[in-house]
Amino acid sequence: MRKIRGKILFCAMVKAIVLVLLLGLSGGSVCAQKKPVKQPAAPGVSAATVERVVRTLAADDMLGRASGQPGGEKAADFLVAEFQRIGLEPLPGLTDFSQSFPVYEAHTKPILVSVDGAVVPAERYVLVSGQPKLNWMHYDEPSPRVITIGAKDNLLKEIRPLLNPQANTIVFVDTAQAKAFKRVAGFVARAGLRPDKPAPFSTLLVLGAAPAGPLKFLVTATTDIRTVMLRNVVGVLPGLDKNRAQEQVVFSGHYDHIGILPAVAGDSIANGADDDASGTTAVVALAEYFKQRHNNARPLVFVAFVAEEIGGFGARYFSQQLPPAQVVAMFNIEMIGKQAKFGPNTAFITGFDKSDFGRLLQQNAQGSVFRFEPDPYPEQNLFYRSDNATLARLGVPAHTISTDQIPTDKLYHSVNDEVESLDLPNMTAVITAIGRAAAPIISGQQTPTRIVGE
Ligand SMILES: [Zn+2]
Repeated sequence: MRKIRGKILFCAMVKAIVLVLLLGLSGGSVCAQKKPVKQPAAPGVSAATVERVVRTLAADDMLGRASGQPGGEKAADFLVAEFQRIGLEPLPGLTDFSQSFPVYEAHTKPILVSVDGAVVPAERYVLVSGQPKLNWMHYDEPSPRVITIGAKDNLLKEIRPLLNPQANTIVFVDTAQAKAFKRVAGFVARAGLRPDKPAPFSTLLVLGAAPAGPLKFLVTATTDIRTVMLRNVVGVLPGLDKNRAQEQVVFSGHYDHIGILPAVAGDSIANGADDDASGTTAVVALAEYFKQRHNNARPLVFVAFVAEEIGGFGARYFSQQLPPAQVVAMFNIEMIGKQAKFGPNTAFITGFDKSDFGRLLQQNAQGSVFRFEPDPYPEQNLFYRSDNATLARLGVPAHTISTDQIPTDKLYHSVNDEVESLDLPNMTAVITAIGRAAAPIISGQQTPTRIVGE
């Protein structure tokens, strides 16, 4: 789950410890031995797989699974091996389970910035450039756009598009904006991977008034542009009905997390057990479950996304590699490791009213102990804060299933999001319920309505 930029949630968390009675939802074999059954039960979601996968992904040696970092790569390698073990096939067009794509990182080192003949001190300018060697001055044609931002303007909003420069621009910012200017400088200094190759243009922000006469300036800098390959891990379980080959059902979660944070009590690894080792585990456990059942008429696509936390670039790339019209539903699974506010054996669905996907799942869970509920936190905008949003914007009934009590989740994006905080029996029940409620969708009996594109 991504943070809403600039918004920090402070709340107390009440942790309920509730005994979960799974009533046959976990494993299957234990119950089968206790009760006489006439027919051999179909294999359920494996509690052992759930525990092994979530513990592996959230272990300290995964170093918080940051995209493009060794820990993230290690997590991807592990997921590739899991898809191999289960017996999935590569996505058509790929030769293995890695769906790789480039992202970029640009670091600009200014050498000299002068305006109107005077050197501008470092704390009074911000330079963003996509030009490896910048030697820019007022004689150059075409001359830059010049923008002024007044004391009352929303600096952050005005500036955002200029931080990925598509034209040479110089911005003079009223000194009343000094505080916001500092925030922009911090944001630029921390900027990491981005999906688009930097274009050969520059933006210079100067804190101060524009000179009265003709603008004279000189800017020299070097910019180091690095390409980093990231990868989603994608596997397919082909459908049994060849007439439904164009009706894919996607199960997804993001395997990346936020990496290393400032240490708290000697711990600096943001393990991301709930966010989103739990959802990635669901993807693996469901792949195994559906492979064993071997009754899916529609093709099933299992995806572990990279780069959710840094902007959803993995989901964006994935959505560009297949026609959205061929995806009949997306089950995106995000933070299902702790009990939902509705109690054990419940989960909620974001964007509940945007298609009938949620109502279908509710209907399909009837007669079981499990309940799907509409997202109880619409003000959190969760529908747009996870990887379902990219395909949803293209019309796919793509929703996120979660249990997280996000307004009061103190472990969210902290070093304490660890396996010990998860309720694994309840998590297994959630995964089982998703597998069962998905049955009429993967068989082709049900097709959720499309989301109206934006
Ligand atoms: Zn997150």
